[in-house]
Amino acid sequence: DDAGNVKVVVRCRAFVRREKEKGTQCLIRMDPTTNKTTILAPVEDTESSTRRAYEDKEFVFDKSFWSHDEADPYYAHQEDVYRSFGEEFLDHNFNGYHTCIFAYGQTGSGKSYTMMGSPDNPGLIPRTCEELFERIRDEPTPNTSYHVQVSYFEVYNEHVRDLLAVRTSPSMYLKIRESPKDGVYVQGLTETEVKCYADVERLMRIGDSTRTTASTKMNDTSSRSHAVFTIRLKQITHSLLSDETIERTARMRLVDLAGSERAKSTEATGQRLKEGGQINKSLTTLGRVIAALADPKRQNTKGRRPKEVVPFRDSVLTWLLKDSLGGNSKTAMVACIAPSDYDETLSTLRYADQAKRIRTRASVNQDCMS
Ligand code: ADP
Ligand code: MG
Repeated sequence: DDAGNVKVVVRCRAFVRREKEKGTQCLIRMDPTTNKTTILAPVEDTESSTRRAYEDKEFVFDKSFWSHDEADPYYAHQEDVYRSFGEEFLDHNFNGYHTCIFAYGQTGSGKSYTMMGSPDNPGLIPRTCEELFERIRDEPTPNTSYHVQVSYFEVYNEHVRDLLAVRTSPSMYLKIRESPKDGVYVQGLTETEVKCYADVERLMRIGDSTRTTASTKMNDTSSRSHAVFTIRLKQITHSLLSDETIERTARMRLVDLAGSERAKSTEATGQRLKEGGQINKSLTTLGRVIAALADPKRQNTKGRRPKEVVPFRDSVLTWLLKDSLGGNSKTAMVACIAPSDYDETLSTLRYADQAKRIRTRASVNQDCMS
């Protein structure tokens, strides 16, 4: 077994046009050599009736990615983000470990840019898939056959929707099941075998367009839904020496979470509820799960049953990610932050700070077939 903490990195995006036009102040400083991230107290808005005390706050993460100013020598490109841990996570998959990378942050903070990116600036998902097939082609293990499967679903309003399903009914929701052998899984989810990167590219396009088609109908689904892209890598090796067949299966989950502003139950009871939304149960539960897993009391209960049970089963997302968050997986969180919004950004940084304390225990998923 390989026990370790959830790896937590933070990434600050550039100003978008709207912020540039308003002459927005940048509240984030990063020191790439110490991985320190500081959020600065904004200059007081004298017009505002809600005057309050802001403070500078400092955080240290496994990595701080400065993607704010392209002219800066420390500017973090998509490639830098991938090289810094995406690549390492792919190594883990080839070694037979499950992995999970999830992006957290408010709407517009760069989650989808980091995970999926654009055709010109591909993010973690396309880079991981492309390199996966490069490795299979260029450095195959002798006597090994490789099988890669992809699935893509979203969790919206506590329903699971298959993003790769051939159109059946627009409201086809899938059920979640749990079995001793397979753990928690989505019943009837499309899992497509892929032979090359072009196959994956096609599926990503189908999935993303299914997601966007729905979002124009349902008023911005992508900020309310969690998108989970899963790659399953199976390696079957036949040893000529021992005449044994060894099967290794690793699953990598790449998760683009709903906008974190949706988690605030106080707001959700007011304006957001009126907008037709509801409290994002999966996101609020994720917060409770992370808090429970990060609780130092829980980590010391050797042999004794922890007092508080982690509420994985209270929401669809946390139930599905049970293993990824607190079990057999190597896991990383990318906290995406906007350079300007003090309250939302501080809340994301605190969330990330808590996630650092979570430990998982990954083991190689290997079966000897003969
Ligand atoms: P989210 O998925 O968190 O709602 P997006 O990924 O859609 O946010 O990003 C919001 C906007 O900011 C998009 O226009 C995106 O292209 C841009 N953006 C985000 N991160 C970066 C970055 N690191 N560099 C350049 N542009 C970015
Ligand atoms: Mg998005």
